[in-house]
Amino acid sequence: MSDHEAATRTAEAFHAVYGAAPAGVWAAPGRVNLIGEHTDYNDGFVMPLALPHTTVAAASARPDGVLRLHSGGADGGVVELVIDDLRPGPVATAGWAAYPAGILWAMREAGLPVGGADLHYESTVPTGAGLSSSAALEVVTALALNDLYGLGLDLQRLARLAQRAENAFVGVPCGIMDQTAAACCTDGHALFLDTRDLTRRQVPFDLAGEGLRLLVVDTCVKHELGDGAYAARRAGCERGARALGVRALRDVPYAHLPEALDRLADDPVVRGLVRHIVTENHRVEEVIARLDAGETRAIGPLLTAGHASLRDDFRISCAELDLAVDTAVAAGAVGARMTGGGFGGSAVVLVEEGDEKAVTTAVTDAFEAAGFVPPRVFTAVPSAGARRLV
Ligand code: ADP
Ligand code: MG
Repeated sequence: MSDHEAATRTAEAFHAVYGAAPAGVWAAPGRVNLIGEHTDYNDGFVMPLALPHTTVAAASARPDGVLRLHSGGADGGVVELVIDDLRPGPVATAGWAAYPAGILWAMREAGLPVGGADLHYESTVPTGAGLSSSAALEVVTALALNDLYGLGLDLQRLARLAQRAENAFVGVPCGIMDQTAAACCTDGHALFLDTRDLTRRQVPFDLAGEGLRLLVVDTCVKHELGDGAYAARRAGCERGARALGVRALRDVPYAHLPEALDRLADDPVVRGLVRHIVTENHRVEEVIARLDAGETRAIGPLLTAGHASLRDDFRISCAELDLAVDTAVAAGAVGARMTGGGFGGSAVVLVEEGDEKAVTTAVTDAFEAAGFVPPRVFTAVPSAGARRLV
């Protein structure tokens, strides 16, 4: 669907819900992370790219301090909230509306002059697939409010407000990667982000020009383990940093990894976490070096090594993700890895142009033979970040 079609469709749906045309229409994309997993809460490096899939918001300001929210992708009709009553924590708005309500709350908490609004959303980002539909929803809301109220904030600031909303209002302790990807990615590039100082660089990721394709395999599973495991990994990384006397694991140089691991000899769990984070940051730097040299194909083995590290050291893979990666590589993929939080969600698979079908069939057949839910496979094209459509 083109931006124009998406904008028209969303504006029409807004009109049907609220009985008037919207003041504007905005979009923010889902993302996949090419490399740099679980590094974003260790002050480390990440490298996401935006998908062509977007969450589109049609919106108008309201003068009366009321926030009305409606999504074509959610049941339950229009959610109506009084912005003065928005509070984070246990009494926070329940369900999907917490994400956009959290944006308004975070803006007001930061002292920004925002008021009420009517918003309607349409989305092509699969939810809960590790493709960050939550950040797309947050960032498109932040951008719409930014424009409606003339706040003049830049995209990075909007991303930080979105992270604040998800952490403090929704209650998900995520890092800054997803929101930055949704806000700041550009067409044809992967986004290098240093999550300590938020410096970023658009790294050319010319798949088509190199005769390559990037597939996303959505395993369509999300194992219960996920939420508690995220908190446990995060706490384990903090424990590792304390034990090594550094501010964050980002501060353990790759060259000093062997001695760091020696010092953690009596804590094998933390040892694995540290080894993953330190080698993963190094892999991000290696991937950038390859892409800068125009050697896109050469990132394949780094992706696959990253998967092994997430599986064996960080221990957040699952049978479906392992099968997707192993089967894809055996079927001739250049490289493959799980992407996102883990315990389900999606894998990324780098393939030679022309091999998409064979690799997709191999993975689908393997899932069927294993008795797994059929995966959903699509091609990822590095796409634009958040933008105003109308
Ligand atoms: P992910 O971000 O990987 O897709 P999350 O669990 O972080 O998974 O976020 C998914 C949640 O975000 C959904 O359960 C829903 O509450 C909310 N959400 C995302 N997109 C939409 C949408 N277009 N409409 C309504 N809710 C949405
Ligand atoms: Mg999310």
